[in-house]
Amino acid sequence: MAHITNHMPTAELQALDAAHHMHPFTTNDELAEKGARIITRAKGVYLTDSEGNEILDGMAGLWCVNIGYGRQEMADVAARQMLELNYYNTFFMTSHVPAIALAKEIASLAPGDLNHVFFAGSGSEANDTNIRMVRTYWAMKGKPEKSHIISRKNAYHGSSMGSGSLGGMSYMHEQGGMPIPGIHHINQPDWWVEGGDLTPEAFGLARAQELEAKILELGADNVAAFIGEPIQGAGGVIVPPSTYWPEIQRICDKYNVLIIADEVICGFGRTGSWFGSETMGIKPHIMTIAKGLSSGYQPIGGSIVCEEIAQTIGSGEFNHGYTYSGHPVCSAVALENLRIMQDENILDHVNNVAAPALKEGLAKLAEHPLVGTVNVAGLMASLPLSPRKETRSKFAGDAGTVGYMCRERCFANNLVMRHVGDRMIISPPLVITPEEIKVFMTRATKALDETYTAVKEGGLL
Ligand code: PMP
Repeated sequence: MAHITNHMPTAELQALDAAHHMHPFTTNDELAEKGARIITRAKGVYLTDSEGNEILDGMAGLWCVNIGYGRQEMADVAARQMLELNYYNTFFMTSHVPAIALAKEIASLAPGDLNHVFFAGSGSEANDTNIRMVRTYWAMKGKPEKSHIISRKNAYHGSSMGSGSLGGMSYMHEQGGMPIPGIHHINQPDWWVEGGDLTPEAFGLARAQELEAKILELGADNVAAFIGEPIQGAGGVIVPPSTYWPEIQRICDKYNVLIIADEVICGFGRTGSWFGSETMGIKPHIMTIAKGLSSGYQPIGGSIVCEEIAQTIGSGEFNHGYTYSGHPVCSAVALENLRIMQDENILDHVNNVAAPALKEGLAKLAEHPLVGTVNVAGLMASLPLSPRKETRSKFAGDAGTVGYMCRERCFANNLVMRHVGDRMIISPPLVITPEEIKVFMTRATKALDETYTAVKEGGLL
């Protein structure tokens, strides 16, 4: 077997990568030409690449490495669990301690009567579970026609056929026959881009009322559930106006429509509460979890389910499950992650130290001529870029060009800040310190200055 190591020259690794590895959400031909950035190791909030650069990870990987990289305890737990019981399934009337312990811990952290967990390997899988679970629930209640699910445009719920259909990314729906039938999308509460002359509050209300119109159009007896991220993540960290979620809740209550809160990003401390639903005042029947559940140390996701649905589903056989539902190593590692979160009071750190420092730094960045405004909740934030912030106007040229330029300038300055269109996205590990946030701000300011110069030179203002 070929021995491929971190010590090989970058160009050789890039060539092998281009020859054999197909990347997600990537134009692979273009990547092959440019060569992938090869990450070799990581510790705390810093990544190291194959050229020896130390890069501050302002995205916690893909919004997941909440306790930071390279924790010894996590490796120890994984090794111990692999030797004790590396695998067994949870089908056919069997269980094991890691899955039992993790389900119990999640139930104790989750609000209200969200006391049951159906495990999956990822957020996508968990949302596929949710589609089948809410439809099966209503069928078992004698209402099989109550099967339609309403979501939002520009939502992200995963990449599988079901979860990708729940998602509202039109460029995803263009490929591979999505959405599947019975899924509908209303407009998102993105005031910055779509709010026009309305106040944020009036706009939030108007967008929530689209749900009522859609339920009435489909017939309330045909609508199973509404799904939403408490704060849209991949769509651009869109913090909805304060009027939005209360109105969604009122409408769902009125028409007996279940609420699925997709907590894959917001869950486990990202917004300063254990769950984004608590931050936004939502009372969901099901929550989708993944990412921060294990801080990305192992792939694991799941659905946290309320008493009523769990009892109803439990009265018959739910013909659904994954080989890795409740995988013992993933469960043990996730449990250790939750222990660390609690023993180290990471939520207190977010609320009292990191989020205030981030907010202060972002307020300074907001004075930059390219930065339109700041959206922030806990440790997730976005900076919509704009040539004229007073009018929220767009840049000349294709949408996303300036955002992409800024992301590239961030990388060149050893900072990971992602872009969604012309919005810059921030979601650092929850353990980030004020000193590290200062480094973030210095690098981000330099990247924004360089982008501004390039934007002016390119006539994009
Ligand atoms: N839901 C949300 C809100 C997400 O952000 C993501 C991933 N970015 C998913 C679901 C899908 O999770 P996964 O990639 O683990 O399948």
